[in-house]
Amino acid sequence: MEDSETIEKTPILNSKTVNPDTKFNKNDQIIDSEIIFEFGGPWGVTAIMFGFPTLMFYLWGCLQFYHGHLISPFNMELWSQIVEGATPTWYSTKVYILFCLFEFFLAYSMPGPIIKGAPVSSLEGKQLDYLCNGLISWYATLVISYLLHYYGWFRLTDIIGNFGPLMTVAVITGFTVTLLIYVITVIQGKQYRMSGYLMYDLFMGAVLNPRLGKVDLKMFAEIRIPWVILFYVSVSAAIKEYEMFGYVSSSMCFMVLAHFLYVNACAKGEECIPTTWDMSYEKFGFMLIFWNLAGVPFTYCYATVYLHITSIDNGQPLQHSAYWTYFCYALLLSGYYIWDTANSQKNRFRMIRNGTYIPRYTFPQLVWGTLKDPTFIQTKHGNLLLTAGWWGIARKIHYTADLMMAFAWGFITGLNTPITYFYPVFFLIVLVHRVYRDMKRCAKKYGKDWEEYCRQVPYIFVPGIY
Ligand code: NDP
Repeated sequence: MEDSETIEKTPILNSKTVNPDTKFNKNDQIIDSEIIFEFGGPWGVTAIMFGFPTLMFYLWGCLQFYHGHLISPFNMELWSQIVEGATPTWYSTKVYILFCLFEFFLAYSMPGPIIKGAPVSSLEGKQLDYLCNGLISWYATLVISYLLHYYGWFRLTDIIGNFGPLMTVAVITGFTVTLLIYVITVIQGKQYRMSGYLMYDLFMGAVLNPRLGKVDLKMFAEIRIPWVILFYVSVSAAIKEYEMFGYVSSSMCFMVLAHFLYVNACAKGEECIPTTWDMSYEKFGFMLIFWNLAGVPFTYCYATVYLHITSIDNGQPLQHSAYWTYFCYALLLSGYYIWDTANSQKNRFRMIRNGTYIPRYTFPQLVWGTLKDPTFIQTKHGNLLLTAGWWGIARKIHYTADLMMAFAWGFITGLNTPITYFYPVFFLIVLVHRVYRDMKRCAKKYGKDWEEYCRQVPYIFVPGIY
């Protein structure tokens, strides 16, 4: 991008680096406002909006009532069992809604650093403030949930015991919030990048930066609800296992650890989220709302649900050979290490260069999370592309690492049911699609500099292979 097309807002940090957060680029605005039909356009997203919740109920029904066997979706008995087992109750509605309100209260009231987001093209490059109190809110949630369980005010085992009704409440909430946000946005005239197709706009969303007071609803929905519920589904199943058998199996411990690592990483790295693509580009529609309120927490947990059901059906928890268990743990922990350090390398690199880095000493801090004097490409756009550390090995190695963890979540359940592999396979498809969208966007944004980056780092997922 030529200088004449770039509106400079504050001085450049030094001769070598340009602070991307201080530049508003007109080309970004053009790319940002372009309407691109994704996911098969209006018909495709309509199918997803109705098909995905149906699939959620179907897979849960097979797990809950048929030991994880995929039985015919036309079996009426299955559907009557699902209706009976997943009808929302007043209790499940209270639990889900109070949990969301409690998390919102924490997001609103807890202290934390304020981080500037990426320049928002539709706001002429304005950078919004994000209150990052995720970590303290996460710790507060842990303490409060322990007290609730310990004093018997809310038994955590009720989560796995009411899984079906809770899932239905989450699904209904996902649709309701989507409609509400859409209608409010249109009434306020705050819609952006609209396609003119109702279903497509409901799916992709109408509003870009929805806020309730100082809480950014997009960031709240991404971080505070899905992963926390996922973690508590596993904690709940683990406590139940302990109550039933007097011990917690290595497989169930694995799931608690896996989900702890994920939710903890989201909380400890929250300050990296305001500058992500999701915050500056994606709108707040069904895709983000439903996915975070219902999709992630109630489908990514199939491994836990399977282990729980199997232990009840078999009268004992699922046990694997020591080698298989070690393999699963090794895959999880090595995947986590690469994922955490790769995300941290890129985010810290850009934050240090921009002068926005705040050392937070959160747990765990891993070796190689920060690169010393890394190599990078200075793009004409102004942004820097890291070519060192994991980012010099493969362009999306953090996706590979995320997938390693996802497959480990499946492997820990053995090979008895395909349903526990739903998450890794689905996630693989999501990430491949995300790579495709991201590469296209970056190629447009950075032009020849992106070609140079792809030349210097030719592999996407696995060095030497792809
Ligand atoms: P990335 O972290 O890969 O971010 C992509 C953006 O980073 C690009 O658009 C570009 O943005 C910038 N970028 C790309 N290459 C470089 C480079 N070499 N140096 C500096 N900046 C670069 O993707 P996501 O935001 O999709 O994912 C973040 C994490 O979240 C991942 O670890 C992923 O696995 C995880 N995730 C998990 C999901 C789940 O459901 N479990 C779903 C989605 C993601 P710019 O325009 O700023 O240059």
